[in-house]
Amino acid sequence: MYRTLKSPISAQIEITEHCNWRCIHCYNYWRTQEARSYTTLTIEEVEKIVTELADNEVFDLTFTGGEPLLFPEQVLAGATIAKKRGMWIGLNSNLTHLTHRLAHDLKSVGFKSVLVSLCGPTPEIHEQISGREGSFKEGTRGILIALEAGLKVFVNMVTTRANQDYAYETGAYVAGLGASGFSVTRATAPGNCPNFEEDFQISREKIKEHMEILLQLELDFGYNVSVCECHPLCLIGDVKRFRHISRRGCNAGISTLAIGSKGEVRPCTHVGNSYGNILVEGLHASWLRMIEWRDGSLVPETCSLCKYFPICTGGCRMEGKNSKGSLNGMDTHATGPEDVVPPEDGWISPDRDISGYWVVNPTARLRTEDFGGIIKVTDGGRIPLNKDSYQLLTKLCERRAFTFEDVGKEFSFNPQSESSYQFLQIMLKRSIFMRP
Ligand code: SF4
Ligand code: SF4
Repeated sequence: MYRTLKSPISAQIEITEHCNWRCIHCYNYWRTQEARSYTTLTIEEVEKIVTELADNEVFDLTFTGGEPLLFPEQVLAGATIAKKRGMWIGLNSNLTHLTHRLAHDLKSVGFKSVLVSLCGPTPEIHEQISGREGSFKEGTRGILIALEAGLKVFVNMVTTRANQDYAYETGAYVAGLGASGFSVTRATAPGNCPNFEEDFQISREKIKEHMEILLQLELDFGYNVSVCECHPLCLIGDVKRFRHISRRGCNAGISTLAIGSKGEVRPCTHVGNSYGNILVEGLHASWLRMIEWRDGSLVPETCSLCKYFPICTGGCRMEGKNSKGSLNGMDTHATGPEDVVPPEDGWISPDRDISGYWVVNPTARLRTEDFGGIIKVTDGGRIPLNKDSYQLLTKLCERRAFTFEDVGKEFSFNPQSESSYQFLQIMLKRSIFMRP
């Protein structure tokens, strides 16, 4: 169903299981084990893991937890290697432990932005979820320190029934602080929470209301709005109207994975199944063992027959497990293809003018695969390339500017032919090519 890439394109590394918050929606909160048995990667282990990921040509690496900034030395050591090896680095944190000095160090080592959690617009709402008195003030302070250090801050609000009525107010609050973006993400059922559906899970109607609120926030404050996990297209409905949300599919085990704080290799941070240990046997063997995430075994039957599946990816597998007891169950909030409203002018429209001069996006990274290669840009997308396209893109990366007409003449293709034109439109939509 999906090609097996030689390695993932992106990875998350869970520095620690420890966290100074106890969010009701987080799998940490529900763990039955005592906090004293939580594990944390040592600096040496982090360095070994990041080196192994870089050796396997992983492009993007996000440091997460638990709360990763409880162990800043590990984050800085891993980030230093990742940047030296040309990787993009990201950080997920509640920022309550951020100091001016640490913010400066994070910026110096190469972090450009941070994804921060906030559960509500007031201490009362936020702290009944985070479980830590004072965490609203601490988190706000961390956001301001990060901004002062020149880091961009994107805030994610995970929604349960406890905070579902405060999405707009929270978005307005973080806009006032200076956040560059805001996302509202339905809580994914923690694997070991027996009463999630009855007590915490929000309804399909509420998620749709949040999608409308995100559009309103975008209009009111002019920042980026999004969701942080895959939403099924049949939940989204009008794909064109909610274009930011419909971009996000589930890539667990397909192009991404998570490394846990013992070195265990899992398809994503929410999934408990381990397929091996990177510290013991490297990355490759575990990646190959994850085949069930690529061969269609975990795709719900309705989704496997749905014409929108290649774009939708069938929702969240953990939501499937939550609703049907199995990873190949239907996403809790999915209904079926009849509820998808496809864009009336096509999936890659509106067509863009391909005349004039272009450059390859300066953030583009390429790597070979047995079918040709892959190109990926930061904040854009990734595209698989056949061998000819891979060679062409490699050459274009070296050029300062070009027209598609000249490139067509040089490499013997007609940019206006249907297949070439379609390919160029996809490349433009994914921001692979830009105006100089
Ligand atoms: S039926 Fe499945 S693949 Fe189709 S839109 Fe819904 S979740 Fe996506
Ligand atoms: S399984 Fe769910 S939580 Fe994991 S990557 Fe997919 S959509 Fe995200």
